Amino acid sequence: MEYRHLGNSGLKVSTLSFGSWVTFKAQVDLPLAVKMMQTAYDAGVNFFDNAEVYANGASEEIMGDALKKLSWSRDSFTVSSKAFWGGQLPTQKGLSRKHLTDACHAALRRLKVDYLDLFFCHRPDESTPIEETVRTMSDLIHQGKVLYWGTSEWTAQQIMEAYSVARQYGLIPPTMEQPEYNMFRRDKVESDFRRLYTEIGLGTTIWSPLASGLLTGKYNRGIPKASRVNLPGYGWLKQGFESEEGQEKIRKAGALQLIADEIGHSLTNMSLAWCAANPNVSTIILGASKLSQLEENLKALEALPALTAEVMEKIELILDNKPAPPVQF
Ligand code: NDP
Repeated sequence: MEYRHLGNSGLKVSTLSFGSWVTFKAQVDLPLAVKMMQTAYDAGVNFFDNAEVYANGASEEIMGDALKKLSWSRDSFTVSSKAFWGGQLPTQKGLSRKHLTDACHAALRRLKVDYLDLFFCHRPDESTPIEETVRTMSDLIHQGKVLYWGTSEWTAQQIMEAYSVARQYGLIPPTMEQPEYNMFRRDKVESDFRRLYTEIGLGTTIWSPLASGLLTGKYNRGIPKASRVNLPGYGWLKQGFESEEGQEKIRKAGALQLIADEIGHSLTNMSLAWCAANPNVSTIILGASKLSQLEENLKALEALPALTAEVMEKIELILDNKPAPPVQF
């Protein structure tokens, strides 16, 4: 395993990490979660990602039960939660001081830990003053309940605003952002955030590196029965795969498969290694519904040396997806 600094913080996270969206509860029960987390940990993974909204808290409960069973030394791993969607009541959602505090306490209870290493604002909340959110995150850190705070799917401008407010009032600024990043979704990580890496030392914990499985090639011959798009509640994802845009991605996955064959790695591992080739990616959060998938994905960094400039250029031609110009703020 390789370790990278989370932005300009002192924390070193494994380049490959493990998350539980969709999978824990719906596809992965406690015994399998224990096996998967142990497999990841044995491979050097030291970051496990979660959120209050995943399976309405059940994902954190499973991870917490697994952590208890595994009884790893607390100083050998990091675990996260994200707050935004905690329930239907007005007090249970968004980024108010009230909800962030309740969400943090609930995550600590479910994950059975004394502190969260990483705590994310899962989405921006235009209805809460940014100072309230930054001050609350800063307070949770001062209270010892959180070590680093960050954002997820915020714009460059929103992150910069949080940073500026923190600097203005002597508060703790965000350390990391959790954006989607994969061969099909690149603009934020490659363009919008470009100045943030150098100017505020932003780290990134990137999600859906395989575009929900499209970049494994498993959808190239139709939708397999046992895949996340057939789970109850994921019809929106299936519709996306069946749309014109989804079909175009599947066609590209077919073409990328030929390059993967040429370099002698699976398309899955070539796609994950492609994410790792970006030095502004601090960690790639892997998702897996089966132990065998995780075992394969944990070998992804072996494909990194095969991604020569020539191979990257070939991939680029297929993606034909030049990043947009940077956002001004
Ligand atoms: P991926 O894009 O890597 O998709 C993972 C899914 O792809 C698996 O569950 C599995 O689905 C399929 N898959 C993975 N590996 C293989 C393989 N080797 N062979 C065949 N199929 C495979 O990542 P996720 O979308 O799961 O995202 C990863 C993590 O990122 C999440 O767990 C979560 O922690 C985080 N995340 C954060 C978000 C945010 O808003 N901040 C949003 C989404 C995710 P199946 O078997 O069901 O087909």
